[in-house]
Amino acid sequence: MRPQGRDPYESLYFEYPHYPFVRPPEMDGAARRHRVAIVGAGPVGVTTALELARHGIPSAILDDKNTVNDGSRAICISRHSLEILQQLGVAERFTAKALGWQYGRTYYRDRQIFRLAMRHSEQERFMPMYNLQQQYIELFLIEQAMTTGLVELRWQSAVQGISADDTGVAVDVQTPEGKYTLAADYLLAADGARSAVRRSLGLQLHGEAYEGRYVIADVQMRSDFPTERRAFFNPPALPDSTLLIHKQPDNIWRIDYQLMPDEDPEDAIREDRIRARVGAIIAMLGETDDWELEWWSLYKAYTLALDHYRHGRVLFIGDAAHLVPIFGVRGLNNGFADAVDAGWKLAWVLNGWADDPLLDSVTPERRGATMDVFANAGKSTRFMTPPSRGYRLMRDAALSLSLACDWAGGFANPRQVTPYTYSDSPLTSHPQRDHAFTAGPGAGAPLCNRRLGEDDYLLDHLGRGFNGLYFSATGEIPAEHAGVLDELENGDMPFRCLVITRNPDPRSRGHANTLVDTDGGVFEAYGAGSGTLYLVRPDRHVAARWTQLVPDQIRAALDTATGRTSP
Ligand SMILES: Cc1cc2nc3c(=O)[nH]c(=O)nc-3n(C[C@H](O)[C@H](O)[C@H](O)COP(=O)(O)OP(=O)(O)OC[C@H]3O[C@@H](n4cnc5c(N)ncnc54)[C@H](O)[C@@H]3O)c2cc1C
Repeated sequence: MRPQGRDPYESLYFEYPHYPFVRPPEMDGAARRHRVAIVGAGPVGVTTALELARHGIPSAILDDKNTVNDGSRAICISRHSLEILQQLGVAERFTAKALGWQYGRTYYRDRQIFRLAMRHSEQERFMPMYNLQQQYIELFLIEQAMTTGLVELRWQSAVQGISADDTGVAVDVQTPEGKYTLAADYLLAADGARSAVRRSLGLQLHGEAYEGRYVIADVQMRSDFPTERRAFFNPPALPDSTLLIHKQPDNIWRIDYQLMPDEDPEDAIREDRIRARVGAIIAMLGETDDWELEWWSLYKAYTLALDHYRHGRVLFIGDAAHLVPIFGVRGLNNGFADAVDAGWKLAWVLNGWADDPLLDSVTPERRGATMDVFANAGKSTRFMTPPSRGYRLMRDAALSLSLACDWAGGFANPRQVTPYTYSDSPLTSHPQRDHAFTAGPGAGAPLCNRRLGEDDYLLDHLGRGFNGLYFSATGEIPAEHAGVLDELENGDMPFRCLVITRNPDPRSRGHANTLVDTDGGVFEAYGAGSGTLYLVRPDRHVAARWTQLVPDQIRAALDTATGRTSP
């Protein structure tokens, strides 16, 4: 909602683009079959189109709107998401505008009880978290998609229903100039919480709704307070409530506060009520500058998911597949991971580098990630909005204890999002052998970054397909190892071998993609010695790793990672 007197898209800081309707060839009788149709040009749909384009696959995106998301939704994007965006060539646009952060503070009444410090070091290219309004997120992704020449964006095109069989999908589309049917080999449903595709297939989300409602309000205000997450339990301005504060670009502040159980939500979101409560909060924060209301809405937390994310030729991603609570900032961050997971797998199938059963792994991997989110976000949500009187008593007891004992402040840790490890995935080989390593990302985990030099990091060097990180102290590669790596690099699918060396032998010609690990930091972080190999998927997750490369096993692991055989 916007303040009275302002139009729905009249923002204090963001100029909404207008995307026109362009009459598609299908409406003039041209028979055209698309390889991939994506329903929803939200952040997840467009990210998937970018991942498909990265692997040369064109797609058509249908969206019922003529602009980006209005109001304000996701603001916190994790380092892991930035690493995804880096691979899509759009991360710089994000870091130039977003506010990076590492720290947070939690208060009980008027005392600080917990200092959040997310893991960060000079080894990382990106900060642990960035704040950026979802409007910018969508705009940057859409503008990037338009540069690829492989993404067709069809605005003002509402999907009304779909029918699918073993050969493809037919999509019924309503436009300002009438209806048409779009045909595609595969369909990605990225049409959000009220997915028309889900409805059309008669599918339902299952899970829980949480007690408690939040007002989410954005205000514009100048303040020197650093970019940190601030959480308040029973603060002086709202003695029985919970409050969250985040700084965003353009002097916008996100204020989330919990409504009391006996409050009428309709009444609580009246503009005069919002102004009174936000004013009291801002005064409590000690801010004295003028402020202006940008936008507000009402929020309720859910943990809901589909039972299966794959239905024949239809894959569900993002909010169309799952709804997760905002506490811990997992919705869009998980959506980005869904996007690359579905994107690379579909590209592999459509490029003929894998068979259709590879797509079956979307459910165990991404629904597995959703269940993990439910476990963590459920804890955070119950702490933020206790579901019962008993729960509230326990929560308040923990908070009271934290006034006297530092360790008890840990109960208020917000458990921010972390990437999911696919150790149980049918695509992951040898997770049981992880104990042979002293360090490094385990089988199924995403790669960790390492600084190699000035503005130069390990992950910058990954190729667009599978990667092999091969470790060799001198850069020399024994013949039997060189043979299999060469075979994979010249195989039918994109594979890049990166040779990581500590002291390259100046007399040796070395491998074309040799990275010098001058201080030994990469060897150490990966628990590697000469001959160690990490086999890495296009989404940077480890498919398998060996302390000593075993040629036959790497061929088998690659087959497993592309769904051709079970581990
Ligand atoms: C208040 C709030 C705060 C949040 N904060 C965070 C955060 O800090 N971090 C985080 O990770 N997540 C956060 N989230 C969650 C995040 O906003 C969502 O997870 C994210 O928007 C999901 O993206 P999506 O592309 O899957 O769906 P959506 O963003 O909902 O996009 C769906 C798209 O599909 C289109 N569409 C819908 N129906 C049709 C149809 N029939 N035909 C054609 N097009 C259609 C819509 O117009 C829209 O463009 C927050 C959410 C809320 C509500």
